[in-house]
Amino acid sequence: MATYQTEQKKALADCLSRHAHQTALSCDEALSLLAQDKAYDVKPGKSTVYRLLSQMVEEGLVQRTVVAGKRQARFRWVLPECSSHLHLKCTNCQRLIHLEASLSKMLKGAVEAADFVMDIEETLILGRCKSCVERGEYE
Ligand SMILES: [Zn+2]
Ligand SMILES: [Zn+2]
Repeated sequence: MATYQTEQKKALADCLSRHAHQTALSCDEALSLLAQDKAYDVKPGKSTVYRLLSQMVEEGLVQRTVVAGKRQARFRWVLPECSSHLHLKCTNCQRLIHLEASLSKMLKGAVEAADFVMDIEETLILGRCKSCVERGEYE
């Protein structure tokens, strides 16, 4: 059982990492991607995918976001390069924006002017994204 579970997890991890640059996937979307793609010979069921996703969230491989008004949580693969840039999070739609490395560096430099070393990996800047501001969808 352990081996089969590892295979399923590998397939799911591979699938998520290949879609890392797109918007986060819901459990159903991840499930259908796995089912459609011939590259994966394991086809885990929904409860397994959900359990594996939760497990990967705990391990820090995957980030879980809940979009307001949507019932399903969405999952995003955490990119290795995420340790070298800052993240902006929209508190309205929960979208995560990966700030360009050069801009992240600039901000880090600006903070350093106040004699403070910012921890890029741990810093999450909260605010509102462009589309939420444009739609006026916030309090
Ligand atoms: Zn990132
Ligand atoms: Zn937003």
